[in-house]
Amino acid sequence: MSVNICPMCGGKTKGKVVELTESLNGKLVMISNVEAEVCLQCGERLYSENEMKKIDELIKKVKKGIIKPSAKKEMEVYSF
Ligand SMILES: [Zn+2]
Repeated sequence: MSVNICPMCGGKTKGKVVELTESLNGKLVMISNVEAEVCLQCGERLYSENEMKKIDELIKKVKKGIIKPSAKKEMEVYSF
């Protein structure tokens, strides 16, 4: 595991498995088990190129409706 530096604040980042929320077709979806480097100082998340590709592929599949969610969760969404 390489130690990365956060581009936002210069803090150290740590590899973590996170959840990502994306707005797709007016619906909020959650992508879990995403590997990211998370800044210990400001919480900024960095994704590797490989992980970004995986996320992209998944989103494409979700948009086309060719995969089903592994779980459904009710989410409260607040906006300004
Ligand atoms: Zn940071």
